[in-house]
Amino acid sequence: GITLTSAERAGTGQLPYLDPSLPVGERVDDLMKRMSLDDKLGQMTQPERRYIKPAEITEHRIGSVLSSGGSAPKPNTAENWADMYDELQKAALAGPLRVPLMYGVDAVHGHNNVVGATIFPHNIGLGATRDPGLVREIGAATAAEMTATGVDWNFAPCVCVVRNDRWGRTYESFGEVPGLPSAMTTMIDGLQGAKLGAGPTSVLATAKHYLGDGGTQGGDDRGDARIPEARLREIHLPPFRAAVRRGVGSVMVSYSSWNGVKLHEHRYLITEVLKGELGFTGFVVSDYNGVDQIDGEPGFTRAEVAKAINAGIDMVMVPEEWKKFIRYLGEEVRAGNVPMSRIDDANRRILTKKFELGLFEDPMADRSYLKSVGGADHRVLARRAVAKSQVLLKNSKNVLPLGAAADKIFVAGRGADDIGRQSGGWTVTWQGEPGDITPGTTILEGVREVAGPSVKVDYGRDGKGIDDSYDAAIAVVGEDPYAEYHGDRTGGLGLDDVDLRTIERLQAADVPVIVVLVSGRPLDVAQRLSGWDALVASWLPGTEGAGVADVLFGKVAPTGRLPVTWMSDAGQQPINRGDGEKPLFPFGYGLTYN
Ligand code: BGC
Repeated sequence: GITLTSAERAGTGQLPYLDPSLPVGERVDDLMKRMSLDDKLGQMTQPERRYIKPAEITEHRIGSVLSSGGSAPKPNTAENWADMYDELQKAALAGPLRVPLMYGVDAVHGHNNVVGATIFPHNIGLGATRDPGLVREIGAATAAEMTATGVDWNFAPCVCVVRNDRWGRTYESFGEVPGLPSAMTTMIDGLQGAKLGAGPTSVLATAKHYLGDGGTQGGDDRGDARIPEARLREIHLPPFRAAVRRGVGSVMVSYSSWNGVKLHEHRYLITEVLKGELGFTGFVVSDYNGVDQIDGEPGFTRAEVAKAINAGIDMVMVPEEWKKFIRYLGEEVRAGNVPMSRIDDANRRILTKKFELGLFEDPMADRSYLKSVGGADHRVLARRAVAKSQVLLKNSKNVLPLGAAADKIFVAGRGADDIGRQSGGWTVTWQGEPGDITPGTTILEGVREVAGPSVKVDYGRDGKGIDDSYDAAIAVVGEDPYAEYHGDRTGGLGLDDVDLRTIERLQAADVPVIVVLVSGRPLDVAQRLSGWDALVASWLPGTEGAGVADVLFGKVAPTGRLPVTWMSDAGQQPINRGDGEKPLFPFGYGLTYN
């Protein structure tokens, strides 16, 4: 039942769905009429790029490819990303219907997989800024850097509401109350633009992870949120409502469960609440191998595939075993276990976003944006965000800001001269790593720059070599980089011994000691605090460490406010657990200079 258009009858070869002057809905209808079941199954499949060859993209009409954390071309340059993208995109366009693919990455604090990109503070620091406009700008800068490499889809922002700082993804949260992540959905506007595809740098955003990822028992990553529905709705749903209102193009399902049922099979929450009640018209993507975790056994089964698709998942992130996924889903459709209407609905949702993004007209990487990757204006923006994210927690005798009177400063700590540590997880590699992993300014370099030539800045990583001739000592200490469940912490939440020894060496020199915490979450410092003169929560600032120095020297007055309650004892987790337990610093706390 295909009606030919006048263009087709005239033999110009212009198919209606390729005509940008037609409304998106008509183009989708026209394209879908031409698609076989296999075409449709391919659109719903998202392999990891290491597990698929270009020819297979063409053959299986693959709808999307992802690079999971650290899966980069070698060498890892923006140019090579663009080449890689174009090669895979050409393979998609070589398919019979010329349907472009969408390439997805986790650009969760800037285009962090690419060496040389600007790395912004992780979300917890952005939550401390209380500045949704700034977060929108960061989204737009990230989108521009992504555009240079062709990547059209960002698995960000994480709009999780962290309720337990033991969770390894605490730093991916803008804060512990629903209002904060909701307000920061401005990142979606920055990434997508006012309207998806309207500007040249528009990329598809993802609100993740739906639903309740930050509310699991014990703060376990991929755990179980055992809370009544009213609580789930009150705490965890609002940011998704806000994201949907802003027109977020995709939503990613959480690995976690709600009262024992995996979100990846949760028809009620995905189809009835998200798509129905909230009116979400974009598409739902699974998490990485999320479908094969439904039954708790390794490897996915036909039953899991059917459950996930019937629950309302439209695209499956099926990194390695994508051929099996396509086969299973086809079998389930033919067996009548997954209705064809579900397959059509998923395709309609996915294809609508591809048309809106302008991928049919403009599928290739836009190399004119290469200069924006790690460009000066983005670094200035990041530095501003870093300064705004600093939370001054203690400042006895106004030791800060380090003003004109200071002419000799000692800097110590593992985090002081280390881009990798100050950037945390999801930087170039999934887990992140210490060291000189990407260009940027370390906090020590920032201190030297902002202090200027008249101030002598000495550095000893472990604090050795300090003497009492200093005006002040700065210890930059905190956490090793980590991501996801690798960062889950049971037991204490204190500083490592090596960091404590460093601080003690500074204290022994009898100079004012300023502790700068580079960490993805509050740490349990209550027992130590009385011995420190100042404490600054720097979170995970990213590549522009000078922003920390801007605050230490008073170039920028601290205005950051805690996005999470600061425990006075690790036993207070989960936060707000009960009455009568006084935190060390309450939610919203933050000092400034007088
Ligand atoms: C994470 C997601 C991420 C995905 C793709 C998963 O392990 O939970 O947040 O988007 O990997 O890299």
